[in-house]
Amino acid sequence: MSAPALALQDFALLDDTECEERIVAAKRKLGSRCVILGHHYQRDEVFRHADFTGDSLRLSREAAKSDAQYIVFCGVHFMAEVADILSRPEQVSILPDLAAGCSMADMANRQAVERCWRELTQVLDPEQTVTPVTYINSAADLKAFCGKHNGIVCTSSNARKILEWSFAQREKVLFFPDQHLGRNTGYRMDIPLDEMVTWDFTKPLGGLTKEQIRKARIILWKGFCSVHQMFRPEHIDRFLERHPDTRVIAHPECSFEVCQKAQYIGSTEYILKTIREAEPNTRWLVGTELNLVNRLAQEVKPEGKEIHFMSPTVCMCSTMFRTDPQHLLWVLENLAEGQVVNRIKVPESDARLARLALNRMLQVA
Ligand code: SF4
Repeated sequence: MSAPALALQDFALLDDTECEERIVAAKRKLGSRCVILGHHYQRDEVFRHADFTGDSLRLSREAAKSDAQYIVFCGVHFMAEVADILSRPEQVSILPDLAAGCSMADMANRQAVERCWRELTQVLDPEQTVTPVTYINSAADLKAFCGKHNGIVCTSSNARKILEWSFAQREKVLFFPDQHLGRNTGYRMDIPLDEMVTWDFTKPLGGLTKEQIRKARIILWKGFCSVHQMFRPEHIDRFLERHPDTRVIAHPECSFEVCQKAQYIGSTEYILKTIREAEPNTRWLVGTELNLVNRLAQEVKPEGKEIHFMSPTVCMCSTMFRTDPQHLLWVLENLAEGQVVNRIKVPESDARLARLALNRMLQVA
């Protein structure tokens, strides 16, 4: 009989220095049996222990290719689900803190999306005319919904290619949960704003008229990222007044008005690449999560590059922040004792359909 799992409460009050030493020791003990994934938005005390760092899709794919039996995802819930879906059957996906969710992902659930799909039948035949597209920042059952209805998943890196594929299948797209990624991408594909309508999931027929739905090319779910919505166009204006030579770069989860003022728009990987490859002594105003911006600022400082956070107030992803060294240590020491805690397992019926939508994306992009 295996020993009982170590209790989380015994780790909660440990100081970060003790956690640091014990995490290193537990990692050494686990060796190649365990891989730690660190999303770009994780805090430094956790990020530094990651075997792989990057965006959520890249991390899941790296983990699936590795020999590791245990995948510890320092990120949020939907990411650990994607890791589980794309991993081999013998691999186990673990989220150090089960409360690490994503406020944007929570803005769309299966019931509300099913209701939207049903209501659309009052105006058109969605199976024939609408491709459902879910941003990877969504629950596994919504990816499964897309798998079932000939839809697809997208990331912030490949959203344009995925929309092009979607329009090649059917004339309209239902895009969830992030309205901003959908609108910013559609606009750059020359889709007029009045052909991208916002589906308010709290209202019958999304608060739209039948005529608006008939005319729409993209129906945007009224979801957003609570972190990226903090950036405002006036933050850019005020900064440029003082430093007109600044280059502005924003994540497409930022509002349309912010992205309109940015010279560069792209995913976290794009932001990192663009600034790393820029000429020395350039100044940048960056609209994405604070932990990534702070680390990048330190990294490129020796080249004389100045990196500024777009918002004057501190805004970091509070759910990413939930993964602290104490939770990471708790998970690792349990694994070292042969105990799996906080496993994320997507039911096979959803996993199969979600995998279909994810694999469609991987083929297209
Ligand atoms: S930054 Fe926004 S989209 Fe990303 S995990 Fe946090 S709430 Fe979700």
